[in-house]
Amino acid sequence: MHKDLLQRDQQYVWHPFTPQTLAPKPLGVKAAKDCKIILEDGKEVIDAISSWWVNIHGHGNEELAETLKQQALNLDHIIFAGFTHEPAVTLAEKLIPLLPGKFDKCFFSDNGSTSTEIALKMAIQYFWNTGDKKRKKVIAFEGAYHGDTFGAMSMAGRTPFSAPFEEFLFDVNYLPFPTAENWEEVKSLMVEYTKNEDACCFIFEPLVQGASGMRMYKAEQLDELIGIAQSHGTLCIADEVMTGFYRTGKLFATNHLINHQPDIVCMSKALTAGILPLSLTFCTQKIYDAFLVDDMMKTFFHGHSFTGNPLACAVAIKSLEMLLSEKRQNQIDHIIKSHQKFAEILSTLPFAKNIRQTGTILAFDYDTEKDTSYFNSIRDELYNFFLSKGILLRPLGNTVYFHTPYTITQEELDHIYNIVHRLFKEGLSTMKADRC
Ligand SMILES: *Cc1c(COP(=O)(O)O)cnc(C)c1O
Repeated sequence: MHKDLLQRDQQYVWHPFTPQTLAPKPLGVKAAKDCKIILEDGKEVIDAISSWWVNIHGHGNEELAETLKQQALNLDHIIFAGFTHEPAVTLAEKLIPLLPGKFDKCFFSDNGSTSTEIALKMAIQYFWNTGDKKRKKVIAFEGAYHGDTFGAMSMAGRTPFSAPFEEFLFDVNYLPFPTAENWEEVKSLMVEYTKNEDACCFIFEPLVQGASGMRMYKAEQLDELIGIAQSHGTLCIADEVMTGFYRTGKLFATNHLINHQPDIVCMSKALTAGILPLSLTFCTQKIYDAFLVDDMMKTFFHGHSFTGNPLACAVAIKSLEMLLSEKRQNQIDHIIKSHQKFAEILSTLPFAKNIRQTGTILAFDYDTEKDTSYFNSIRDELYNFFLSKGILLRPLGNTVYFHTPYTITQEELDHIYNIVHRLFKEGLSTMKADRC
């Protein structure tokens, strides 16, 4: 007897970030094309969060698929220790001149978490190799997210998600998330943490903290904090995993900085247009020089089976070319401007608060206090409501945000705006009562 997809899934598969008994059953997906996810029953859902912030050119892109096919036929994958190949070298060559500041070396891995782990290990070993033994502190923002592996989890803010591991995580010196009000306090804490020259690195999500609710802060503030940290020899790590590739309106969020630049940059997510796993960690010559010694013990002993995967590199090169095209740049500009207009409309609606935008990311909170009905979980209520209207939006608590592929059509944008407009005008309880 042929079992359906959902039954087979439930028998064998464990899904990410999913409460196993409380979450609704997953939706079976038959295909995805452009900005639409096509479900098994034929229903279409607009992918307004770029499939967890990765997709930028839409699904099923023919140019990317053709690039992948040709690369697979020519060279699929080989060991990257002792061997090299065109796609990896070309990708590094093309990205390095586009980075904020002067970067010299590119280290390959497979996902955002490994890219930040590698950054951390590079920073720690840099001081080990140079004999600066007292630099043990790691500085990060409260509410930071840098991935789900141990080092990445340690560097992030503590949340209920990390609670079971708490005793196994290393200590971090936290800076409050910078605002206009606490700014002097944040700056003096940074001085406090770095002045004794015992801080190894400062890691941050530039301009936008993604996972903790699309929280936004100013480039000028980050610029100053990097300046303070670097003046005391602390290495600065920009985690551009979510913000890279024009999410903030520039290629990288750190391109918004004015006087200072990070020492290490991590990228992943949109790097391959969201179709293959790949990540990169870039460092400056100063860091690399500490590894340029005839001493085996100073080697960076880190690598993964799929380091430098040619398929992912080839797709990343093609994606970058498409991203820099005039057509895509115009689409990005258009999204930024339409979101700006919509943000103005939102600001007049009773249930919308904390409306904020950085580049193509627009975020706003649903004001639960204005809604008299009681919601068990506003996040689930909102998520299900949007799905019922054919839109995939995955709120973070009561924060709704747009994070769409750049190829989203006007018709799709208008549909999203219309639904969100009605919801934030009438409130969730009214909208849900209205079953039409
Ligand atoms: C998603 C994310 C990561 C982790 O990336 P994965 O590919 O999910 O491991 C790290 N840092 C930031 C800022 C992210 O948004």
